[in-house]
Amino acid sequence: ASARIAVTGLAVMGSNLARNLARHGYRVAVHNRSHARTKALISEHGHEGDFVPAETLEELVGSLQTPRQIIIMVKAGGPTDAVIDELVPLLEPGDMVIDGGNAHYADTRRREAALKEVGLLFVGAGISGGEEGALNGPSIMPGGPKESYEHLGPVLEDIAAKVDGVPCCVHVGPDGAGHFVKMVHNGIEYADMQLIAEAYDLLHRVGGMTPADVAEVFRGWNSGDLESYLVEITAEVLGHVDAETGAALVDVIADEAEQKGTGRWTVQEALELGVPVTGIAEAVFARSLSGRAGQRQAVREAFGPAEVAGGADESLVEDVRQALYASKVVAYAQGFDQMRAASAEYGWDLDLGAMATIWRGGCIIRARFLDRIREAYDKAPELPSLLVDDYFRDAVRSAEAAWRRVVVKAVTAGVPAPGFVSALAYYDGLRSERLPASLIQGLRDFFGAHTYRRTDREGSFHTLWSGDRSQVDA
Ligand code: NDP
Repeated sequence: ASARIAVTGLAVMGSNLARNLARHGYRVAVHNRSHARTKALISEHGHEGDFVPAETLEELVGSLQTPRQIIIMVKAGGPTDAVIDELVPLLEPGDMVIDGGNAHYADTRRREAALKEVGLLFVGAGISGGEEGALNGPSIMPGGPKESYEHLGPVLEDIAAKVDGVPCCVHVGPDGAGHFVKMVHNGIEYADMQLIAEAYDLLHRVGGMTPADVAEVFRGWNSGDLESYLVEITAEVLGHVDAETGAALVDVIADEAEQKGTGRWTVQEALELGVPVTGIAEAVFARSLSGRAGQRQAVREAFGPAEVAGGADESLVEDVRQALYASKVVAYAQGFDQMRAASAEYGWDLDLGAMATIWRGGCIIRARFLDRIREAYDKAPELPSLLVDDYFRDAVRSAEAAWRRVVVKAVTAGVPAPGFVSALAYYDGLRSERLPASLIQGLRDFFGAHTYRRTDREGSFHTLWSGDRSQVDA
């Protein structure tokens, strides 16, 4: 019999996805540019299910039922285009090409449009959860033409993570919507990790707690509102002792954070859309700052190291928990805003509640919290900000005093907390009755005659700054 679905690209993600499909009873055709990987997969895991190995793409295509479904799991960028170019002449109208790599959504839009021209369905599917998720159930964010989901959806839902029996997979929207949403997911992941790291740093450097103490704190937090995969593994990492030195591993790891680029993409796209995603931006910049070793050393030498003023009181742990929660609400609110803005820009009609639903399991930011976000958008799909949902409004209100104390403490102590600080500034910015943007408009009008609007009547105005300073209609 022919295979139901195919996977090409059998590095860690592709092989695990193929195994996941096989374990769910699908006959899976498998292929990799260098055949050795295909052979390794069959010899190590062939017994797990029904695999059909192929040495060439022709063979792979020939082994499939029609309409064909081929998942590409190769390095994102040029390699994905190379595989698509090789595949297209082998396929027939109605066949489906699914890119499960971390593609930029603009590439996905371009590829979708090109394949549509030749009658093929192209699905850019964001897949989150790393290698573990790919094997045991990832969160899957497929975009592409709606009709692709009829055939493909049931298979993807089958292999996706489940929460309360609901699969973490839904048709996200047309063309690049799936990869866009995956990108924002990663951006939120950056922000979440930055906030967690700041919480640790404050408890450690201001509170004087050891990594093992903080591990215990995080373990406790994981049974409350903050329950999430990232909080859970923070306790694991902080509690881990380096076998060589006997020190906490976190004290041995070089403090220069790396990045593969999806956080940067999120911020670049947010700038294009004009959406303030300050939490994600601070997280990306904090990683960049950490990596500037030479500059860090020069500034440390010029000024001396920051003198951290300690002095924790009993309430620090609880204050930091509240600050973390409130800042996290802000980071998610910003990410969801960005998805809403992109949805309007590209006509995707994204269901934000459904996005929260499919992030509840399988992916790196899976958390109890996402149930609340889903409820918020289910209740009010047009919610102007997550912050104004009743539940989050009450949570942020009750955290506010603690949040301010933590920010004051961080600033006074000299411990950088850009995530906490900027989240609070965002909140205060949105809440302010009047912002100094009025002054900015005045300055713009002064040097560039850019005009301004007034609060008391319609129209655009300009002040004759270099003349008699009277106001004219612009
Ligand atoms: P890699 O990103 O390391 O890519 C290696 C695979 O790409 C190999 O199968 C390799 O084939 C193939 N490849 C590279 N260049 C070409 C080419 N020009 N033509 C054909 N095949 C090529 O593998 P991963 O498994 O880590 O990731 C796969 C995709 O999934 C990537 O897009 C990644 O961004 C994404 N992803 C990864 C996650 C992770 O946790 N690793 C999580 C979510 C998504 P060969 O063996 O012949 O060299």
